[in-house]
Amino acid sequence: MTSAQATCLADALAAGYGILAQGGSALIAVERTIGLLEQSGLFNAGRGANRQLDGVQRMDAAIMEGTQLKAGAVASIEGIAHPITAARLVMEETDHVLLVGPFAGRFAQHFKLDRHRSTGAPRRLSYDRILGKQKRSTRERHGTVGAVALDRSGTVAAGASTGGIDSMLPGRVGDTPLIGCGVYADNQSGAVSMTGAGEGIIRLVIAKSICDRLAMGKSPAVAARQALRMLVSRIRGSAGALILSPDGRFAIRHVTPHMAAGWWSGTGQPTVRGEFP
Ligand code: ASP
Repeated sequence: MTSAQATCLADALAAGYGILAQGGSALIAVERTIGLLEQSGLFNAGRGANRQLDGVQRMDAAIMEGTQLKAGAVASIEGIAHPITAARLVMEETDHVLLVGPFAGRFAQHFKLDRHRSTGAPRRLSYDRILGKQKRSTRERHGTVGAVALDRSGTVAAGASTGGIDSMLPGRVGDTPLIGCGVYADNQSGAVSMTGAGEGIIRLVIAKSICDRLAMGKSPAVAARQALRMLVSRIRGSAGALILSPDGRFAIRHVTPHMAAGWWSGTGQPTVRGEFP
C-alpha cells in the first residue's frame, strides 16, 4: 500500500463515519466511502479501473442494505466516474437488481452521473491473440474497493466497486456485481464485501456463505476464516473479506498476500493497514 493510498483510505473512512455520526444511513456511508476511493484513481475502481484486453475500462459495482435486503448492481459499465452510485440508483429507482453494459451506461446518463473519460482508444485485437494473451498472463492486479457499515438504526450495508482483474477478456464480469458473491447484507446476519479472484468467489458464493455462518452464531473472524479456508482448499481461490455483524463486531481477513483496508469507530484516528494476519 502506498502512502497516498493509506491517506485516501483514512479520509474515506472518516467521510463514511461522518455520515453515520450525523445519523445518516449505512447505505449512504458505504456509497460515500466507496465514491471517494473510486474518485482517487489510486485503486482498481472508478478512475483507476483496470482495462480489459481490448483496452477498455468496464466496471462492476454493487450495494446492498440489510433491512429489506434491497440491492442494486451494474456490470460492464463504461465511462462513468461512480459505478457505486449507479448501483444505488438501480436499487432505489428500479424494480431490478442488476443492469449491464451500454444499458447500465444509459441508465447512469439518465441520472446525469459524472462521466469519466477513459484515456486511450479501444484496441483491435483478434480473438486468437486475446485468448492467448489471457492464458499467458501471470500478473495479478487487484485493488477492488469495498466498504461495510452499521448505522444507528441497526441497519448494515455493504458495497464494492471494481475494474476487474488483470488480463480479462472483453465482457468478463467478476464477483463484485453478483449479490451473494462479492457483496451481501442482512440485518439478521451481517454485511460482507469481498475482493480477490472473482471466478473463485463466484463459484463458492462467498459473501452469502460468510453471512450464513454469521447467522449460525459464528463470529465475523471465524465465519471469514472458515469460508476463506474452504475457498483455498476446494478450488485454490484467493480473496479477502470485510465482515461486520449487526452488533458491531467486525473482521478483516484475507488469504491474498496483502489487503489494504481499515476501520474507524469514531475515536482516535482511522486505522489503516496493508495486511491483516
Ligand atoms: N473481485 C474482483 C473481480 O474479480 C477483483 C478484485 O477484487 O481485485 O472482478
